[in-house]
Amino acid sequence: MKNKLGRKLFSKQNLKDLKTPLLFLLFFLSLGIWRYLITDKIFYLYNFTYIGVALGIGILLNSNLDKENKQWGRKITQLLIGIYMLGYLGLIRKDNMQLEGFFFYLLAGIFAAATLHYFIAKIFGPLIFGRGWCGWACWTAMVLDLLPESNQKNRKQNFGKIRYIHFILSLVIVIYIMINNNNIFSNLNFALYWLAFGNITYYIIGISLAYFLRDKRAFCKYVCPIPTLQKILTRFSLLKIEVESHKCIDCHICEKHCPMGIKIIKYKKEGKRVLSTECILCQSCKDICPTNAVDVTLGLDGQINKEYIYYDQS
Ligand code: SF4
Ligand code: SF4
Ligand code: SF4
Repeated sequence: MKNKLGRKLFSKQNLKDLKTPLLFLLFFLSLGIWRYLITDKIFYLYNFTYIGVALGIGILLNSNLDKENKQWGRKITQLLIGIYMLGYLGLIRKDNMQLEGFFFYLLAGIFAAATLHYFIAKIFGPLIFGRGWCGWACWTAMVLDLLPESNQKNRKQNFGKIRYIHFILSLVIVIYIMINNNNIFSNLNFALYWLAFGNITYYIIGISLAYFLRDKRAFCKYVCPIPTLQKILTRFSLLKIEVESHKCIDCHICEKHCPMGIKIIKYKKEGKRVLSTECILCQSCKDICPTNAVDVTLGLDGQINKEYIYYDQS
């Protein structure tokens, strides 16, 4: 079994599959070298190399594993990056990677690792890879994605407003704390407690929602404030999901497995790529499609915003 997998991963006909992981590795390596040359901090070099390698491993596995196991490539990348960011950057280096930490660094004019992380993964990166962070790297979703698959077409339309309230509350809390005690976020132990408390709360809410709403990505759809930032530029994303009409047999299996409850086939029928800013580029639709009609394509879209989502009454 091991030899068979080894042959499959490295056989000549699959060498073309190495191009994408190598491209990602090169991109992140270049980013690390650039930051290292500017700052003289070796941290940037190993940090970005690690992220490039973790992404490369997942993409390589995803393109070479059997159909039913392909999603493990993505989940392994998610675990590798998530554990590194939460465990090493957060708990050991004490970088406050929570949204509140980012707000603080931004308002205080501090360029920390968390600032760079937010700029790349959550604000400007979405111009290229949309909400790929949510599908491939998030440390909250790395746990939620291990929960059993559930009914993803029962999205509650009004619950989505909670994420915007959460976003505003986070900003208000940081401004309030800064006005009253300007230095508290600079205290490394405070950053550590904030990160630990915030994430434990997220896991408890995320798992409870998944259980009660029978939807493992309910936390992402309703509570998490991060999409508020990501969705601004995700609508312009170069990478998006596309269904080839002539290959599609309208079986709707892709929609059944879409964790974000997107009406993928409605986009196809209108001759568009999946324009929804809810798409997390997880590729579940691509991996499950029996006719290989789905792919991630690079392009520019004339129309930039059209949300076709399954809500519980639709
Ligand atoms: S929506 Fe939030 S919790 Fe969900 S994957 Fe994205 S960043 Fe993570
Ligand atoms: S799973 Fe593939 S063939 Fe079936 S509806 Fe989706 S894109 Fe079309
Ligand atoms: S449309 Fe496809 S890639 Fe996007 S969230 Fe749904 S399953 Fe994932």
